[in-house]
Amino acid sequence: MKAAIYRGAQDLKVEEVPEPEAGANEVKLRIHACATCGTDAKIYNHGHPRLTPPQIIGHEIAGEVVSVGAGVNSVKVGDRVQVIAAIPCGTCWACQAGTMTICPNQLSMGYQFPGGFAEYMIVPNEVIRVDGLNHIPEGVTYEEASVVEPLACVLNAQELVRVGEGDEVLVMGAGPIGCLHVRLARALGAKKVFLADINGGRLKLSADVVRPDRAIDMSTENLAEIIKAETDGKGPSVIITAAPSGQAQEQAIEMARPGGRISFFGGLPKDKPMISADSNLVHYKELMLMGANGSSPSHNRQALALIASGKVKVADLITTRVGLADVQKGIEAVLSGEAIKVVVLPSQ
Ligand SMILES: [Zn+2]
Ligand SMILES: [Zn+2]
Repeated sequence: MKAAIYRGAQDLKVEEVPEPEAGANEVKLRIHACATCGTDAKIYNHGHPRLTPPQIIGHEIAGEVVSVGAGVNSVKVGDRVQVIAAIPCGTCWACQAGTMTICPNQLSMGYQFPGGFAEYMIVPNEVIRVDGLNHIPEGVTYEEASVVEPLACVLNAQELVRVGEGDEVLVMGAGPIGCLHVRLARALGAKKVFLADINGGRLKLSADVVRPDRAIDMSTENLAEIIKAETDGKGPSVIITAAPSGQAQEQAIEMARPGGRISFFGGLPKDKPMISADSNLVHYKELMLMGANGSSPSHNRQALALIASGKVKVADLITTRVGLADVQKGIEAVLSGEAIKVVVLPSQ
């Protein structure tokens, strides 16, 4: 079969490799759609500490069951399924407490296990035993199902900062994740949703699709002033930083209203993880600062249901489709910001 093998920084090529077979307690999929994201672009450029090349990458996976190993009863040949990306162990203290996203034994598809930029992929037992293989409901396409995993991560973050009725939410970063944050915040009942970015082109591309109450181009407009005016002088009740920017995190602490909740959704570059902020703002304003690390199997199921019910639309966020042979072009489109969501279609 053909698969995109990552061999090191900026070395990602489609090669002919042996087609894998499902062993006991495993499932073999024909991959129909595998979306790309900022993490793939990061891996492509710099590698990742948890990924040892060579490896087939791609972790936003949807496909069709083509064979089922002994011992698996949850799916059958022909089923359309979506696969979790982060795989919790299911047994440690964090998993037992229901906080699977911070499982210290977490593994990932496309990191420790071959991923979805391939014609076929094995779903390992580690995924199946934590209920990480989800049936795609009728009416949801493979492409849409490939966006379930990033939406699940967005859902985890918004649950943690309790986005809900009446919130005024500022999303900083207008990439695909920022778009999903805007859509989900609306679905959860936010009264107003704002979208800001330092890249005016990317902001326009995304704002034209997700239609925030106000899009703010940080390269030409004063975000702090505008957001204050838009929230009757209070500041947003929730700010989500969906960009690898320490400056955005610092600004969020300044702009949040008293009692505000801040989600540091986007991680910072590992060589620049420090920020400098007035800690008294956190103290006096009683701010809540919250991280977000991927998603649990249950977030994936909920995200799939949100898409199936039409509460969160994702089809129009997919602006670019490429075949497996062009996976590198797909990642370049992610990097350049000319696309919102890029999906690789290995079966075409
Ligand atoms: Zn991703
Ligand atoms: Zn665990």
